[in-house]
Amino acid sequence: MSDSDLFPWGDGRRYHSYNAFMKARYGGRVQKLPVNAGFTCPNRDGTRGVGGCSYCLNKAFNPSYCTPTKSISEQLREGMSFHLHHNRNIKGYIAYFQAFSNTYAPVEHLRALHEEALNVPNIVGITIATRPDCLGDDVLDYLEELSGKTRLCVEVGVESCRDETLRRIHRGHDFACSQHALWQLHARNIECGAHLIFGLPGESPDQWLEDVRKVNALPMQHIKFHQLQIIKGTAMEQEYLSHPEDFHHFTFEGYVTFLAEHLSHLNPAFAVERLASAVPPRYTATPGWHGIKYDAVVRAVEKHLAESDSHQGKLFSI
Ligand code: SF4
Repeated sequence: MSDSDLFPWGDGRRYHSYNAFMKARYGGRVQKLPVNAGFTCPNRDGTRGVGGCSYCLNKAFNPSYCTPTKSISEQLREGMSFHLHHNRNIKGYIAYFQAFSNTYAPVEHLRALHEEALNVPNIVGITIATRPDCLGDDVLDYLEELSGKTRLCVEVGVESCRDETLRRIHRGHDFACSQHALWQLHARNIECGAHLIFGLPGESPDQWLEDVRKVNALPMQHIKFHQLQIIKGTAMEQEYLSHPEDFHHFTFEGYVTFLAEHLSHLNPAFAVERLASAVPPRYTATPGWHGIKYDAVVRAVEKHLAESDSHQGKLFSI
């Protein structure tokens, strides 16, 4: 059996990279441009809770140039001119509604934002990050309509498959809510993906390897993984200071080894959009492997997979 039979994703990697997924779809590189449309979150405004998820400090996760004081088209044009200076081989751009919960507004407001984005030249699609409990029938009906007009992807914040953890981090929803949201998107043929965090309190690498079967059964096209980074000033920082023994900290080498094993169990159909997060060091409350670039994580995981003669999905099961 040749390497291309084992790794059929087109770029020679031992895992199904999001770049390969997008190249297969668009015939070239497509760049996501984050925008901040000024949304809030039901876990902050009192609808689901106040104070938000215990790890959340949104400004740590969003680029500083994205601010709702600028229009969507301004933010997109600025993002494009930045990338044009760095990479001229981009075939198009995706407007990425990233900050807070990007379906938490009346449908007519969502429609106006998306129309503005789609009217910017070279925008070829829209990606929307949201909570699973912000996808009511009216929103889903609208998203189905939107997906008929452009390439649409919805990223759902699943974070953990364990209800005990979701309660502990004050997510305000359970795992069944995430499953339901993804199945609803799937039923409407809307491309979707999930976001998961490794390192939440009370969880361990063995449990994440157990949970991969639940993840494998989710009806989606892509997935993002982040290692937990504890952010200064959050409720989680206080929890960590009181109970550090409840948190699993990865060394860089430990995370690479864990990821390689996790990928070997992961559904090979999922495109992996992220393997790790990189919050600016000034925001983090705990020492970590700062200064290591994302590309170095990717290279180390690839090397580990090659040395262990493994690849995404080698041990896949549901
Ligand atoms: S749902 Fe997202 S934006 Fe809202 S508090 Fe949680 S992490 Fe922050």
